Amino acid sequence: MNVIDTEAPFVVVDVGGTTLRIADYDPMTGALSGTRRTPVDGMARDPNAPVPVLQERVVEQLAREIGARTARDGGRCAPRTVGVAFAGPVTADGLVLAAPTVWGGRSEPLPLGALLTARVGAPVVVVNDLTAATWRYAATESRPFCLITVSSGIGNKVFRNGEVLLDPGGHGGELGHWTYDASPDALPCDCGGRGHLGAIASGRGVLAAARRAAVTDRGAFAASRLSALAHGRPEAIDNRAIASAVRAGDAFATAVLRTTVTPLAQAIGSVFTSIGICRYLLMGGFALAVGEPYRRLLVAELTRLGCFGLDADAIDAMVALGAADDDHGLLGVGRLLGARLPAGAGQVVG
Ligand SMILES: [Zn+2]
Repeated sequence: MNVIDTEAPFVVVDVGGTTLRIADYDPMTGALSGTRRTPVDGMARDPNAPVPVLQERVVEQLAREIGARTARDGGRCAPRTVGVAFAGPVTADGLVLAAPTVWGGRSEPLPLGALLTARVGAPVVVVNDLTAATWRYAATESRPFCLITVSSGIGNKVFRNGEVLLDPGGHGGELGHWTYDASPDALPCDCGGRGHLGAIASGRGVLAAARRAAVTDRGAFAASRLSALAHGRPEAIDNRAIASAVRAGDAFATAVLRTTVTPLAQAIGSVFTSIGICRYLLMGGFALAVGEPYRRLLVAELTRLGCFGLDADAIDAMVALGAADDDHGLLGVGRLLGARLPAGAGQVVG
């Protein structure tokens, strides 16, 4: 039997497709310290390894990294509270259902929470990374809100009355797989479907749209800042150039981006009109790289389409940008742990 030292900083971990971040989280101040970043020992490092091998490597790596935190004090301290934010759907008891970016598709579910708890000697809470990120903003948002990430894909989570709204079976938070374009030749999505919001409005979707527009409208492209950044070659356009061109007010790049923001505005309109969520926080590498112009484009589309019962000022106040850092998972899982543990109580586990 171990007594968990809940007075000590928590150990918080964020496992993404390429990077593993680990830090100490002080539940009293809400601050991170000693953050360490290291490549994840998954498919990004060894794309040809079988999924079960990669699963074992990631578990090993996590046990090692977490163990090193506890042993830093000479291994004499009591086990510490540990939380892991993970890039994939996770059940309430820590079963990872899938991890396409970490160990690849078609994997068997992995009881990551139970495996790490046994290895570390302390209860390890594992949650989806966007669920964790939602907890970061739960500390500062006074109303129910929807967090939306726009990066290589699109994801969302709704936070209301102290919890992230999800079906116990894991349904929900998958606005990226909502079908926007029902035509048979619609853009393919990672999941195997077609015409999903994530295929159209993600950073990858915007990139594809920009390259298509550069080929079909050569004159407008040639005159654009985006063309200058891509040396006149559609295939040389990347997300960094698109974000830079939009921030500089380039008409061509802005028009392309608007075509991808419209479906996102329609999806938000549906969430708003169905359950009345009046606050939308944007995060994710692509949306935050574009920044305020992205928010303004989205507000303009929401205003054009209309949000039933809201005027333009209310729609403008509805959308905000998240923090432009990569601490969402670490801070969020720390806050989630803090909210679950009784303050100052030592926790006894078998
Ligand atoms: Zn999909």
